[in-house]
Amino acid sequence: MADVKYVFVTGGVTSSLGKGIISASLAKLLQARGYSVTIQKLDPYINVDPGTLNPYEHGECYVTLDGAETDLDLGHYERFLNVPTSQANNVTTGRIYQSVINKERKGDYLGKTVQVIPHITDEIKRRIKLVSSGNKYDIVITEIGGTVGDIESLPYIESVRQLKWELGTQNCIVIHLTLVPYLPATGESKTKPTQHSVKELLQTGIQPDILVLRTQVPLHVDVKKKVALFCNVEENAVIESLDVSTIYEVPVRMLSEKLDQIVLRKLGMPIDQEPPLTEWREFLKRLKNPKHSVRVGLVGKYVELPDAYKSISESFIHSGSYNECAVHVEYIHSEDITEQNVNEKLKGLNGVLVAPGFGSRGIEGKILTAKYARENNLPFFGICLGLQCAVIEFARNVLNLEGANSTEIDHKTKYPVIDLMEEQKSIIDKGGTMRLGGYKCIISKNSLSYEAYGKTEIIERHRHRYEFNDKYFDDFRKNGFIPVGINPESNLVEIMELAGHKWFVGVQFHPEYSSTVIKPHPLFVKFIQACIG
Ligand code: GLN
Repeated sequence: MADVKYVFVTGGVTSSLGKGIISASLAKLLQARGYSVTIQKLDPYINVDPGTLNPYEHGECYVTLDGAETDLDLGHYERFLNVPTSQANNVTTGRIYQSVINKERKGDYLGKTVQVIPHITDEIKRRIKLVSSGNKYDIVITEIGGTVGDIESLPYIESVRQLKWELGTQNCIVIHLTLVPYLPATGESKTKPTQHSVKELLQTGIQPDILVLRTQVPLHVDVKKKVALFCNVEENAVIESLDVSTIYEVPVRMLSEKLDQIVLRKLGMPIDQEPPLTEWREFLKRLKNPKHSVRVGLVGKYVELPDAYKSISESFIHSGSYNECAVHVEYIHSEDITEQNVNEKLKGLNGVLVAPGFGSRGIEGKILTAKYARENNLPFFGICLGLQCAVIEFARNVLNLEGANSTEIDHKTKYPVIDLMEEQKSIIDKGGTMRLGGYKCIISKNSLSYEAYGKTEIIERHRHRYEFNDKYFDDFRKNGFIPVGINPESNLVEIMELAGHKWFVGVQFHPEYSSTVIKPHPLFVKFIQACIG
């Protein structure tokens, strides 16, 4: 008998049904019952990781503490579970093929023809098991990206079929998530797309154990009965997942639908008392009953696709709930901000956050935003490129270094206040080569950041190539834009704060990656407090 139990989550009918949220919610419930759980995402695209993907393609790139550039669903896993994920939690087809091809070049296959079955599927199964090596977890939940029937996801589905056969149904189950559309004209919920997508799964040799039906309206029991009959699934294993106003409501819904109990029963694991989810429910209560309200501008260049800033918007939800404050995030396109309209664009906001990013598009709008916030005593939070823009602005308008810039934007600038890190200068490959993952930072005691963290030593996650240019350290410090957080090994500047301002903090790292429901990030918490005033 296997020590670790496996739960696979597949999707049918359409993409974007929320497999990540269902997986994270189930994991949360199992965790609350005392099981150790981890979640893994298998992505069927050929990129080795999403690090080189444009955010318009795939939303935000999430960075783990161990420096992996991963799918944004891993962010949901961490926000729900409050446990860090790692490189092993996200696997792509590109990574699978890369290791199979490397083995082939080394001669590891001893003259055999290398094929999808068994070589690619063996590598997929190895990766699935790798995440729980050393029996670290009781249960591994693996989400398969894409939709059943996609050509790309076939090797993953085949690997699940093999695992189910090898490990037995008591150790390996499949949850299939589908959509049940509602037709207002006839007042009916339609089950045909679900039937078809289960058929598709059956063709690949997989009988789903549990069906989760996404729906806009509550499902009549007859609908569930019909789905159970047509799809060979027990009636009580057909679960309704009704649209809700916040993703954080889903675990509570799944608890009342008994998804966790059904999973445990199918895996032959003990089911004790229902977990009270006290902290989680308190979070939801505060979220839904705010005493304050603020309008925060999120200035970035990918604002047409809010998924590009997923972790930031979720961090606002966590810190908003903590402060009993409704945070209304207004997405502002940095390309639309000009010297003429900046006052108009930012008028009435209680604070601004200048977002991370790469390249020159929209950069001047971000710099103007930093200037406006500095001059108008408006709470300002600059993340990564956001900090770099505040540095450029201060150099140009306070230190009078005309044309100051980052060498990312203008490599011939006379005043390179932001410059390429030394170790980046010889790097040619773009994938996985930035300064990535957790690095230490020492914070000065007399600072807003110390007030937020309540300690002098922190570790935060990074994803950048450029840094504050040390040459200008004293000029900035003497004039009041003070480096208050420094990496103890490399001396890189990690945090800067504007003296005499209500709340003006720029960070080179990404605090948004480590904010969770149970532990909202302290800088977001303090930023929202400054916005409340
Ligand atoms: N483009 C900047 C750099 O590479 C900022 C990166 C970011 O905002 N994540 O340093």
